[in-house]
Amino acid sequence: MIKNIVLISITFFCTIGYSQTETKAKYVFLFIGDGMGLSQIYTTEMYLNSKPNEIKSEKLLMSSFPVNSNMTNYSASSYVTTSCAAATAMSTGFKTNNGIIGKSPDQTISYENISQKAKKAGFKVGILSSVMIDHATPASFYAHQNSRNMYYEISMELPNYNIDYFGGGGFHHPKGKKGDQPDSYQNAINKGYTIANSIEDIRNLKNGDEKIIAINPDMYPSGEFHWAIDQKEEAFSLADFTKKGIEVIDNDKGFFMMVEGGKIDWACHGNDGVSMVHEVLAFNDAIKEAYEFYKERPDETLIIVTADHETGALTTGINYVTNPEYLKYQIISVQEFKRKMTELKGTDPEVSFNTILELVQADFGLGNKDVGLSLDDKELALLKSAYNKQFKGNKNVNADADYLSKTAVKSIAETAAYILNKKAGINWASGDHSGTPVPVRVIGKGQEEFSKYFDNTDLPKKIQKLMGI
Ligand SMILES: [Zn+2]
Repeated sequence: MIKNIVLISITFFCTIGYSQTETKAKYVFLFIGDGMGLSQIYTTEMYLNSKPNEIKSEKLLMSSFPVNSNMTNYSASSYVTTSCAAATAMSTGFKTNNGIIGKSPDQTISYENISQKAKKAGFKVGILSSVMIDHATPASFYAHQNSRNMYYEISMELPNYNIDYFGGGGFHHPKGKKGDQPDSYQNAINKGYTIANSIEDIRNLKNGDEKIIAINPDMYPSGEFHWAIDQKEEAFSLADFTKKGIEVIDNDKGFFMMVEGGKIDWACHGNDGVSMVHEVLAFNDAIKEAYEFYKERPDETLIIVTADHETGALTTGINYVTNPEYLKYQIISVQEFKRKMTELKGTDPEVSFNTILELVQADFGLGNKDVGLSLDDKELALLKSAYNKQFKGNKNVNADADYLSKTAVKSIAETAAYILNKKAGINWASGDHSGTPVPVRVIGKGQEEFSKYFDNTDLPKKIQKLMGI
């Protein structure tokens, strides 16, 4: 009898062990929406469906995934994490202090990350971002540095791990902060990497190509993509880089691919709600590419969508006011409208306030009574104050400036976005990260592993277990 029980137990455990190794998650996608809390997702879903006087919610692809849970993300030094500490936890399974990339809080230990482990186990690895590829989140999936600000050192470390495909943004300081260091692109080339930085070069990349750094030819000089809301039709998107990445690294042994939607966070830091929505949509488009792959190999593919932290302490609804349909009237990023104003100041320094109001109406809808966006005296005073500051050099802040969540009146662009967000019921309590746990959306092989509330240090452990590494 006892012998039988032992025998049954052995058979039982062997069965579990067998099934884990034989049916592992061979193709794993980790999508990180930087700064993407639940409110960022839900605001985008309201935006998609918004019609005046209609309350209806539509789901993004990620929200339709069968597993919906949450993840804590505090760092070793604060309940409010930064991207590098969160991404270090998600790539290595260890907490570190805010500011550190891939190393222990005392900076003495360099942790091995999931990319290194996956490479050792024979998987191919892809790392993608819509911001600089040496920025905090992507960097934490390959580098080990005392500070996230050590962009040059990070970019010099990038080619050391034989990662198969880097896609998206460029290097932030390829020749160091002062521009007097050996070129980090050349360093990568010396270590066997190919830089593809034209549309043609990127299009020509093919399955089996190794050691690729594919860089968006149409980006800001500092190395990040243009805002999705401003992006030209023909420009390469995060979805295009994801699709190309899948084509390049697809192989029989499997792969691990991390894709960051980096500018969701940037839009939230600037409290630019509409640009945030377009960044979430661009991120969702990238997820669609992975989902197409998943549909062909559902038994071997796992897609995880999550965030490092929430940014902006965003909430939907202000005293029951929610008018997401107003957000559709903003057709330019705050940054690009700012640029327009700077250019205008150069060409027409005497431009009138009325002309500015016309431009604000064209790009933000503000002042258009027909769509419910008329400006009251207080809002006009705010815009006038920003105009005086920007065009008349008047540093005196209008008395109404405390209407803004941040103390001083800023640019016309920021003021317009602030007013539009308020009218839409989009409320920002901060221009920085918040400490709320982040959403987790999962579909595919081993999805149930993520169904309970867990910590970000458990994320790589769960993935590695499912990949059998
Ligand atoms: Zn941030």
